Formats: sequence, C-alpha cells, structure tokens
Amino acid sequence: MKQWYRMSKDEVLNTLGVTTDGLSSDKAKELLEKNGKNVLQESKKKSVLQVFLSQFADLLVIILIIAAIISIFSGNLESTIVIFAVIILNAILGTVQHVKAEKSLESLKSLSSPSAKVIRDGVKIEIDSTDVVEGDIIVLEAGDLIVADGRIINNYSLQVNESSLTGESTNVDKNDEVISGEVPLADRTNMVFSGSLVTYGRALVAVTSTGMNTEIGKIASLMNAAKEKKTPLQVSLDKFSKMLATVIIIICVVVFGLNLWQNFSLEPVGLNQDKILNALMFAVALAVAAIPEALGSIVTIVQAMGTQKMARENAVIKDLKAVESLGCVSVICSDKTGTLTQNKMTVQKIYINGESIREDQLDLNIESHRHLLYDMVLNNDSSIVDGKGIGDPTEYALLETFRNIGLDENLMRNGLSRIEEVPFDSDRKMMSTKYKMHGVYHILTKGALDVILDRCIKIATKDGVRPITDEDKRLILEQNKKYSEEGLRVLTFAYKESDEALSVDTEYDYTFIGLVSMIDPPREESKQAVADAIRAGIKPVMITGDHKITATAIAKQIGIFHDGDIAVTGLELDAMSDDELDEKIEKISVYARVSPENKIRIVDAWQKKGHIVSMTGDGVNDAPALKKADIGVAMGITGTEVSKDAASMILQDDNFATIIKAVANGRNVFRNIKNAVLFLLSGNMAGIFAVLYTSIMVLPQPFEAVHLLFINLLTDSLPAIAIGMEKPEKDLLSQKPRDPKTGIMTKDFVALMFGQGALIAVVTLVAFYLGYQVNAATASTMAFATLTLARLFHGFNCRSRNSIFKLGFTSNLYSVAAFFVGVFLLSFVLFVPFMHPLFSVEALTGAQIGFIGLLAVIPTIIIQLIKVIGERVKK
Ligand code: ATP
Repeated sequence: MKQWYRMSKDEVLNTLGVTTDGLSSDKAKELLEKNGKNVLQESKKKSVLQVFLSQFADLLVIILIIAAIISIFSGNLESTIVIFAVIILNAILGTVQHVKAEKSLESLKSLSSPSAKVIRDGVKIEIDSTDVVEGDIIVLEAGDLIVADGRIINNYSLQVNESSLTGESTNVDKNDEVISGEVPLADRTNMVFSGSLVTYGRALVAVTSTGMNTEIGKIASLMNAAKEKKTPLQVSLDKFSKMLATVIIIICVVVFGLNLWQNFSLEPVGLNQDKILNALMFAVALAVAAIPEALGSIVTIVQAMGTQKMARENAVIKDLKAVESLGCVSVICSDKTGTLTQNKMTVQKIYINGESIREDQLDLNIESHRHLLYDMVLNNDSSIVDGKGIGDPTEYALLETFRNIGLDENLMRNGLSRIEEVPFDSDRKMMSTKYKMHGVYHILTKGALDVILDRCIKIATKDGVRPITDEDKRLILEQNKKYSEEGLRVLTFAYKESDEALSVDTEYDYTFIGLVSMIDPPREESKQAVADAIRAGIKPVMITGDHKITATAIAKQIGIFHDGDIAVTGLELDAMSDDELDEKIEKISVYARVSPENKIRIVDAWQKKGHIVSMTGDGVNDAPALKKADIGVAMGITGTEVSKDAASMILQDDNFATIIKAVANGRNVFRNIKNAVLFLLSGNMAGIFAVLYTSIMVLPQPFEAVHLLFINLLTDSLPAIAIGMEKPEKDLLSQKPRDPKTGIMTKDFVALMFGQGALIAVVTLVAFYLGYQVNAATASTMAFATLTLARLFHGFNCRSRNSIFKLGFTSNLYSVAAFFVGVFLLSFVLFVPFMHPLFSVEALTGAQIGFIGLLAVIPTIIIQLIKVIGERVKK
C-alpha cells in the first residue's frame, strides 16, 4: 500500500509515470482497459437467471404451484401443464420487464453521472468521471465533485467538504506539502478523496486510485447504497396488495368451508376426495382471480417509461420518487439568469463621467474610459475562441464590447499577468484582481452596485479623480434605478492603486469608475411556461442574485410578477420574522440579491404551509437548498457538479419551461398508473363478485383456475401497460396540483372499482346462466369468455376519465393493439380444439359466441354513456 501523502510531489508523479501535462490519451486508454472504469460496484447486480428465479418468490405464484400440485392429484394433468406454462411465461415476461426497467434506469444514471476536468496530452478536457484513471491529472475548482482519490500537486486555497467520508461537515483546508509519519485519513491534508466536494479554491491533483480502490470504495460495501428504494406509491400499493391478499385468503378459506359443507349436506353419504380437491381448486381459483399480481410491475414500468420520456425532453430524473412528487408540485422557485432568461448578455448603455453613453462612444484616450476598459478585460475570466464566448456570459459580453470598438483583448492580456485574485461568488457579488500596470499595482473590482458603492471613497471624472460626494452617489443610484427599471443587469466598476495583499478584507477604499448595463432577454418560451404553471395551480417564484428592480422588471415581462405582488431582497428577508414571512409569502413573487441561505428559508416557509416545492440552483452553496426542496433542480449546462449531485432532477437545457413539461409528465405518470390500477382492480373485482355469487347461490364454479390465470397473467397485462402509455391530455395543466397526502385509493376510486367490477360481473353471470341451460361446462366457458372480453373492452374505459369519443380510438394505438392481441389469444383458446382440454373449455355455438360478444360490450357501453352524459352536463 503506497502512502502517497508521505511522498513528495515529484515522487508521486514519477511513481505514477506522469507529468503535470497529464497522461497521453493512449496511455489513459490502456490504463482504463487494464484497471477498469472508475465506478463503485454497488453490490453485485442480480443476474438475469436470479431475476427470473425471483419471479417465483411471490405469494400468487406459490398459490399457483399449490394449485398445480392439487391438479395432479385430482387427475387433471392438463391443468397442471397449463398452470406451469402460464407461470413460466409470466416469469419470462416479468424478467423482461425487470431487465428493461433496470436498463432504462441505468441509462438515466449515465446521463446524470458527473464529469471531471483532466489534463491529457497537455490540454484540459472534460471527461466522464467513469473514464478517470490512475495517473490522471485532475483540475479541481469550486463546485466540483471529486471523483477519485488523489495527491494535490498544486494548491490554490483549496477547501473541501469530506463529510461523505469522515462525517465531519466543516470544510477542510488543503495544501500540497509532504506529511511525515503515519496520520489518519482526516489529517491527510495533501490528499483529496472521492466523494468529497470542492467548496472553494482550485487545485491540480494526481489521481492515485480509482473505483473500488478509493477510500470510499473500501467502505462502499458497508453502505447500503445499492438497496433498491421503492417510491411512496410503490410502497402504498405493496401495502394495499398485501392487505387485499390477506382478505382474499380469508374469503377463500370461508368459501372452501362453505363448499365442503354444501357438498357434504347434499351428499351426506360421504365426502369423497374429488369433492375436497374440487373445493380446494375453487378456493385457489378465487385467490388467483383476486390477487392483483401485476400491480407492482405496472407501477415500475409506467414510471420507467415516464422517466425516459422526460429525459428525451431534457429533464433527467435522478430519483424515481421525484416522478411522483413532480405531479404534486405547487411552488416552483426558479433562478432568473439562464433559466428564465437566455443568459445571452449584451452590453447596452454605460454610465461614466456622469453621462450615459453607448459602447461605441468609449475612447481609450479618455482616462476614466481607459480604466473602465482595463477593468472590463483584465478583471475577467472569460475568453472568446473562434467567435464563441467561453466562461460567464456576463463576462464575455464585456469582451465583446471591447472587440466592438476595434480592440483586441488578447493583446492587452498578453502583456500583463494577474498577481492575485478574489474570485466572484454569489454571496459577495463581486470579484477583484491585482495587476501591475506601468509599474504601478492596481486592484480592479467589479460587481453589484449595492456592495461596491459603499466601498468607494473616490470617483473618476472628466477632470480626474476626486473624493466621491453624496450627490455623486445619488446620481449613480438614480442611474442604476433607471437601467434596472428597463430590466437591465448592472455591473459596477471600481479600482484602486495599491500594493497591499488582495483579500476579502482589503476590498475597500475604491475609486468609482462607472456602470455597465446589459440586457439578458427572457427565453422565448418562459412567458408561456409561466402562464402554464399558473394555470396548473403552481406558483412561480423568481429567486435571483440580481438587483431587485431588474428582477422585478423581468418578472413583470414574463408574467411572474403581478400587481399587488411583493419583491423582497435577501436583506429584507433576513429582517423578517417567521410570522411575517408566513403572512406575506404567498404574495412574494420575486426575491432579489438572495444568498443561498435565503433559499433554504424560502423553501422551508413554503413547505410549512404544506406545499410541495421545486427549487432550482446551480452553485456549490445551493446544494443544501436543493436537498431541502421536494424537487431540487440542477442546471445541466451551467450547474456545478455539487448542485447536480444534490438535485433530484437535472435540466439538460437549463430551461424553466422544461420544469413545467416535467411537472406535466409527472402528473401524467401518476394518472396513468392510477388508471392502470383501476383497470386491474375493477377487473379482479368482477371475478371475485362472480365467484362469490355462484358460491352463495350453490351453483357450479364459474371459472377454472386456468381461466383466471389466463386473464390475469396474459390478457389483462397488455391493456394495463397500454393505459400506462396514454399521452398527456390537454386539461392536464388546467387542474390544481394533486394533494400528496391523498394516494390512489380515494373514495371515488374505490366507488369506480366496485361499480365497474359489479357491471362486468353481472354480464359474466348472465353469460353463465345462458350456458348453464346447456351444462355446467358450457356455463363456465361462457362466463370465462365473457369476463375476458369484457375486461378487454374495459381497457378502453380506463384510458381516461373522458369518453372514448373525446379521446379518439387512434390516440393510443397501444390500447387498440392490446385489445386485438387479447381477442386473438381468447379466440385461440376458444376456437382451436387442441386448446379445449388444456383450458377446460367447451366448443361453443355461433349463437353462444354472439351472446358473449354482446354481453361483453354492454358494461363498456354503459360506462361510456355515463362519461358522455357527464361531459355534456359539464359543458
Ligand atoms: P440568478 O441567481 O438568477 O442566476 P444572477 O446570475 O444575476 O441571478 P449572480 O450570478 O449571483 O446572480 O449575480 C449576482 C450579482 O453579482 C449580479 O447582479 C451582478 O451585479 C454581480 N455579478 C454577476 N456576475 C459577476 C461577475 N462575473 N463578476 C462580478 N460581479 C458579478
């Protein structure tokens, strides 16, 4: 075991066979092949065979196996064969679904897997974290997630949060010095460890171990990360299924007893073995009819399909739970810049020397203009390569201005090197850098006016620099207000000549130079998306680091801010008591100049009112707020890895409108699941009612176990999946968000389930009586065929609350296909003589088949009629 922290940097690099120019791409490829991907094995994944076998560990299947064994004893070998065939077919279907759902989740995972900046062949590139190899030189910056263990080679005030490894939540200062002697992990300050977060500073790190060899990899087996977590919906449906199964088993026992007693009382001479077996088979059939075995897998499939659709629409779901919560979202707190606006900044007016001028009026020969131009270009980390801006759009807008007046920023930058810097952060809202120009040290600053103006003691004017007066400040503030009211973003520029060390404590005593205003137009789709949100009963709230007036102006443009609404700044929010915030919160639609801590308080206040809150964020400091929100949303393009890690959804396009689409999808997924569950349960109810009726009325069994098996495991599952694929309806966004506390089993739902089940049971029993005119076997065949067909028709009813005429038959071709496949399967059993003994059916006459068709469609006609009348009345 190498002790990297005790080696010098050179030793580390030599051992790894790398320089600060990084590995060659060939070498990296070779190492990747040799040592494997940089991933943590989240406990062994189940093999396909294991998945297949696990399908048999199910209450229903166990009951079925018992049924199959009973069948052998009762001499009904065909039945045994069919039951086993169906069980195996069902297990295959289950396995395919499981593997498919897992694959789709896996592909989602890879969409949201973090990236890493590495140096290879001397060039800094961004690669997938899974491709990082031992010996890679990683560039770490604030907001990055550390994806491998490594030794720090160059350190620039790196601070790291290692809580995932050490449990210690305070940030650790790192360095690149050699450590002598043996020290525990937490004290290896020249090392960084996979799973930690960079909270501040920068560093160059040589990767010393990856994947399972990292410190977190060593304890990964202790973590239960791999345990499949079920969503609340799955849990509640599981619970429901279990409860139902228990009730059913009790009913089965009662029915079994009843049957025995009837047989006994009818033929007191003796209860023969056949009779007992028959009664037993009957009880088993009832259990098979009633247990909604497809429930769990339907939820999984519909959710998996929903997340895939969302991913295609740029919303990557990291946590399946989010799909369900999305449908309940009632407040969306969104960043402004880049999410609601385009983040395409263009400089508009410039306030300098007491006047507001256009960029083409800037002149290098005027001293104050020169100071401004230097500050714009040097105190700036962006660049323009091949006409494309790289870095912060606010910053490259400044470079564009420089170019627009015929100057070249590279010429200016090449001659001067940056000596010190305090980078921009959204808490301080400013940045400063130090340069030596013409032999004099200059500190250049830019940032928000409210943080810079009070730090200014002088002002640059046409006639040179002089102390700043209250009147100057009044004029500046007035101009700032004017720009802001036009929705412009305003940056303030200041400087000082000083050779003192630059730090957050010395960013004072500046000379004010001027204001640069820039426009960042709203995204075209924002206005519509905001309107959609409001229509959907969701409150959109703007949260921004920008100025209050600018933010309000933009919020008005896109419809977030209405008359009577309030805008507050972070400072005003800090001054508010909890009660006051509680009282005002529903009116506050803009929060300006907020700090990340403010965001947490805003989420908390809404949640206390019972709302489901979605919050966007991109910075390192946004992580706690993203975690606190019900749906934390990170930005795929501009977001830091840390924010992506904390979020439950990532917007690939950073677009507010994508959140609204995701909400609509979330609502649709829930609705489809609910409809599919209604379909399955009402169908089961029909079976239960029919069995109970015949057993109370001392009639022969309406179904054989294989009949119910055939329906539940084959013909019923296809329509259920088709219902899950139903496209969102137009009115999806004109309803209030769902209350998260009301699950699926609402009163209305249960009423529909029993009502529709009873309808289908009635026609099934009518068919039974018709067949009973001939004999018991025909009665059973007719009941079975009618129940199957009626349930296939019922698939159309459960597509939506709306009538099929409003929906259109062809709007969900899957449901049409499911119907015809079902009809084909049923016809196969009914019309192919070879199948008759296997499925215990009798050959039917044309008239009987006609009756079956007629009876089976009646419930659907009635249900559709009720829907149509409902639609008319509503109109
Ligand atoms: P949002 O939170 O909606 O994304 P934002 O991008 O305006 O809004 P921040 O990036 O935190 O929020 O910026 C806050 C303020 O800091 C801006 O209004 C601006 O005055 C100042 N600012 C922004 N970018 C820079 C920068 N690169 N250098 C100096 N100051 C900046």
